[in-house]
Amino acid sequence: MSFMSTLPAQDTLSRRTFLAALGTATAAGPAVAADSRDAPRAAGTASIEADVLVVGGGTAGAIAAIQAGRLGARTVLVESGSQLGGTLSTGGVDYPGLFHAWGRQIIAGIGWDLVTQTAALTASPLPDFSVPTGRWHWKHQVRIHGGLYAAVAEDACLKAGVQLRYYETPLAAEPAPGGGFRVRLAGKGLQADVAARTIVDCTGSATVAGLLGLPRLREEVTQPGTLIYRLGGYDIAKLDLPALDAAAKAAVADGKLLSVDFRHNLRGFLSSGGENSTHVPGADSTTSASHTKANLDGRQGLVRMMRFLKAHPGFETLDIERLQAETGVRETFRIDGETRVSVDDYTSGRVFPDAVAFAFYPVDLHDEKGIRPKPLAEGVVPTVPLGALIPKGSRDFLVAGRCVSSDRLANSGLRVQASCMAMGQAAGAAAALAAKSGTTPAKVPLADLRMVLQSHGAIVPGS
Ligand SMILES: Cc1cc2nc3c(=O)[nH]c(=O)nc-3n(C[C@H](O)[C@H](O)[C@H](O)COP(=O)(O)OP(=O)(O)OC[C@H]3O[C@@H](n4cnc5c(N)ncnc54)[C@H](O)[C@@H]3O)c2cc1C
Repeated sequence: MSFMSTLPAQDTLSRRTFLAALGTATAAGPAVAADSRDAPRAAGTASIEADVLVVGGGTAGAIAAIQAGRLGARTVLVESGSQLGGTLSTGGVDYPGLFHAWGRQIIAGIGWDLVTQTAALTASPLPDFSVPTGRWHWKHQVRIHGGLYAAVAEDACLKAGVQLRYYETPLAAEPAPGGGFRVRLAGKGLQADVAARTIVDCTGSATVAGLLGLPRLREEVTQPGTLIYRLGGYDIAKLDLPALDAAAKAAVADGKLLSVDFRHNLRGFLSSGGENSTHVPGADSTTSASHTKANLDGRQGLVRMMRFLKAHPGFETLDIERLQAETGVRETFRIDGETRVSVDDYTSGRVFPDAVAFAFYPVDLHDEKGIRPKPLAEGVVPTVPLGALIPKGSRDFLVAGRCVSSDRLANSGLRVQASCMAMGQAAGAAAALAAKSGTTPAKVPLADLRMVLQSHGAIVPGS
């Protein structure tokens, strides 16, 4: 059954009237009447027309929208949260990487530009990328302020003419008869229908692909999430660590702590203030119910840990230096694409014929025992093909970010932030070019796509 047929009677539009209505409200401004104090509180409605609808304004999605907007596409960005950046900002993973490999820059473009602009505004020094990191790949991640990054990305969206729609989410989507899609959005006190020529799904979970019934992949057990926070107000040198280890063991035995609250390593936890040192098993952001649970589980772990520490000498002035509003989620769904990047493709640095971006990071799978990163062999730089951003058998549709089509191990490396940004830029460009020329992204001439990406600062394999 078409979702349009589920609308209340006054909203049910024939395709002709639907499109005619769209003529009155375009990506430049939704037709939503201002509420007044005495007005009834019924949900408002809006009809929107877009060349490119980006869903999810996180690490990949913000970049996709900026790129599409800069190419002149009428671009709408729908984000269920309150700001851009996703895992980078709201999740607190505010150290994007890796933009460099083996002494050269392999990812640049819009993401790099926003990251370096953010770093410069707070005088945060960039790492010295000429110094090899050895096994410590994280040394080439760029430390920035996540909230400021979100504001800088937002500013770039506004300047690119992107219509930003926070607090909204797609409820239903269906292909439109003449190509493109009709998407129903729900937000606070509002529902909106979007006629979109092309969709870029950057939800991290391929949510819109799921609504359209496009093929998705998922593991039975996914990687744990992490609520990012940092504790302070204690001096590790003055703590009785053996006594604390014993107390933590006892607290786990009687259920006052979970071993995932400190990843089985209290000393490691304490030495980093607990930052990125916890696990939230089963953390899943695909529905509001599962995401609520991930946040509750993360915060319950924090409260357990603070109560445990506060009861011991040395924590009299225990404090919280940072605490994110959401548990960061590592793994949910990814698409089954026209191309699926395998771990062999990834670790051999296969240059796909339709490569649109580089990626660089160890194979990095978290499980209940922790992480065992496997660095790439010297000189290897993996690539991302356009086919891995396009669900099998789809048209007018792309994804970017961690839901890229890949096997699980390849995904554990591809999912990092610089690669997500590079995918976002490639997807945004492909979507805009496709919408402009009335074709589907897979049919955009590769040479044109690569040329456009390079002219917008991106680094494209083989160029
Ligand atoms: C704890 C943790 C540590 C990590 N460590 C590192 C690291 O050290 N270095 C590194 O580079 N990477 C790291 N990563 C991985 C990396 O941060 C993520 O894989 C990457 O940021 C994902 O980008 P994305 O754009 O795919 O998704 P996200 O950045 O998560 O963006 C998805 C966006 O979509 C929105 N959204 C979701 N569903 C909907 C919906 N239905 N409607 C509207 N909007 C929706 C979300 O609100 C969010 O803004 C880490 C991840 C985690 C969780």
